[in-house]
Amino acid sequence: CGIVGYIGTQQAAPLLLEGLTRLEHRGYDSAGLAVLGGSGLKVAKQAGRVRDLADGLPKRFGGKIGIGHTRWATHGPATDANAHPHTDEAGRVAVVHNGIIDNAAALRAELTAEGVVLASDTDTEVLAHLVARSSAKTLEQRIAEALGRIEGTYGIAVAHADFPDRLVVARNGSPLIIGVGDHEMHVASDLAALVRYTTTLAHLDDGEMATITAGGFTTYALGSIEGTGRPGLTATDR
Ligand code: GLU
Repeated sequence: CGIVGYIGTQQAAPLLLEGLTRLEHRGYDSAGLAVLGGSGLKVAKQAGRVRDLADGLPKRFGGKIGIGHTRWATHGPATDANAHPHTDEAGRVAVVHNGIIDNAAALRAELTAEGVVLASDTDTEVLAHLVARSSAKTLEQRIAEALGRIEGTYGIAVAHADFPDRLVVARNGSPLIIGVGDHEMHVASDLAALVRYTTTLAHLDDGEMATITAGGFTTYALGSIEGTGRPGLTATDR
């Protein structure tokens, strides 16, 4: 339902919580955050209000990169486990997603057959595992490869512990806006979460991905990312 992201010089968690609060008017059933800091990737998520998430947040939740989500469930009930962000089994990749993955059941079955233990009932979780299992070199290639496997709509934001200098976002049918700050960048699915921080905005188009660092961002067409799958081409076909 709602996505926020931050990368910069400040602690991410308070900014992300504030952004999520500004998305509350859209309605949601669960909320969550992932931050990337010196001690790796940390996730806090639960069914219920953003305020409850904030109140229950661990004291040590430091990191200057992060993503957050308010969920409006489409696949699986409003439970703590189904709240976003979703991660891979090693907890190195975190994904937040707006939209619906139409072929999630087939991908869940495929991952399960390959020995992956799924932690939620959601369509979204497959993305975290697909990114984690990609052997492509760059994070952008891994995400494009994962997106090449899915059918459906998405706005996503991804943080990865092995690439601790960036966030990657992509969209197909679900809005994503990048806000440019002073040595910091914000991301949101809705202007309401950005206006407080900056008026310099870039709207991602359908079929685009963006790499966001503290100093700026780069966008490209998903299909132009070298060595990645096109829809219908599976990772094992190459
Ligand atoms: N389809 C996803 C889920 O059910 C995302 C829903 C949303 O856009 O909030 O978890």
